[in-house]
Amino acid sequence: MATENLKVAVRVRPFNTRELQRKAKCIVQMEGKKTGLTNPDDPNDVKTFTYDHSYWSFDGCRERKDGYMEKDPSHPNASKYADQMSVYADLGKGILDSAWQGYNATLFAYGQTGSGKSWSVIGYEPNKGIVPLLCEDIFKGIKEKGAAVQCEVQFSMLEIYNEVVRDLLQPKQGKGGLKIREHPKRGFYAEGLKTTMVTSYEDMNQKMQQGTINRTIASTNMNATSSRAHTIVGIKFIQKSKNATNVETAKTATINLVDLAGSERVEATGATGDRLKEGASINLSLTKLGDCIHALAEQSNGKKNVRVPFRSSTLTKLLRNALGGNSKTVMIAAISPADINFDETISTLRYADRAKQIKTTAIVNEDPVE
Ligand code: ADP
Ligand code: MG
Repeated sequence: MATENLKVAVRVRPFNTRELQRKAKCIVQMEGKKTGLTNPDDPNDVKTFTYDHSYWSFDGCRERKDGYMEKDPSHPNASKYADQMSVYADLGKGILDSAWQGYNATLFAYGQTGSGKSWSVIGYEPNKGIVPLLCEDIFKGIKEKGAAVQCEVQFSMLEIYNEVVRDLLQPKQGKGGLKIREHPKRGFYAEGLKTTMVTSYEDMNQKMQQGTINRTIASTNMNATSSRAHTIVGIKFIQKSKNATNVETAKTATINLVDLAGSERVEATGATGDRLKEGASINLSLTKLGDCIHALAEQSNGKKNVRVPFRSSTLTKLLRNALGGNSKTVMIAAISPADINFDETISTLRYADRAKQIKTTAIVNEDPVE
């Protein structure tokens, strides 16, 4: 059994076009594990938070010929700059190591629309994010193990949109989406979710692209390509081998990679009509997630008789194992560097600060093969 705190990382991206047009100022500072945020109305008011990692991706970088964003050695902030590979090395590798040992793992990205959640979790070619880099490494690892260990990788991808669960690998479904059911041992799951065996990185990448195309995209004033849905990529990893007494056992680990919808308040996006309904509902499930995080943090701090409201939304049901159960969990909070996003950024930093207090207990999933 491994009891440890949920790991929390914060990452700040470069200015986007809108921020540059509005001549925004950078109000984020990072030093080691610390992130500081200056109140644009009062330069003496600096809030400082300490996380497991504070990733500086604001400047200190340049675009390589192939489009990859790398450190720019001529820039004074080059040594601070965190590229996709170094974030993966810190966060993704640990998740993969845990999976090899038979622990479940979850990584989720939180932050306002356009803050860099998808950039970190999925990435944009050639700046591959944690999911594709992790997939590449899984198959590399399987090759290295050779014939002594029989490995199987299953892939699934779903989205939660207005409380409805859609299978991104089977886009043609009824209006109601997949039902959430509860298994006495394994907890909540989406009934009928398609899981497909994948046998190579290319295979998995192709499935992921298919899923990404199927994602529901509704543009908002904040960012034309933003998603208003939560996306959960599931990778089930099974290793079968014989132990000293020749009994075949299987280690199973589920890795969940969660790209959450934008955390901004509805007013900030100026959304109206149908979009308003979407925004309100998304906020509701992120609020419920916040309630769960709050309750779990209190439990972890020794407070008795705290009830965690996991059943209050589809998202919190599906994340129950990740937060309150058998999983090693990493949260990445993505933030904008700009003064014009101060309110959203401070709320993201506080959300992440609270999550840091949660302790989870993960166990190795190893059973004899039936
Ligand atoms: P979100 O998923 O939070 O809505 P994205 O990850 O799509 O936001 O990021 C919005 C835009 O910002 C992307 O198109 C990307 O170009 C840019 N971006 C985000 N993070 C970074 C980063 N670390 N480095 C460079 N560009 C980034
Ligand atoms: Mg996104």
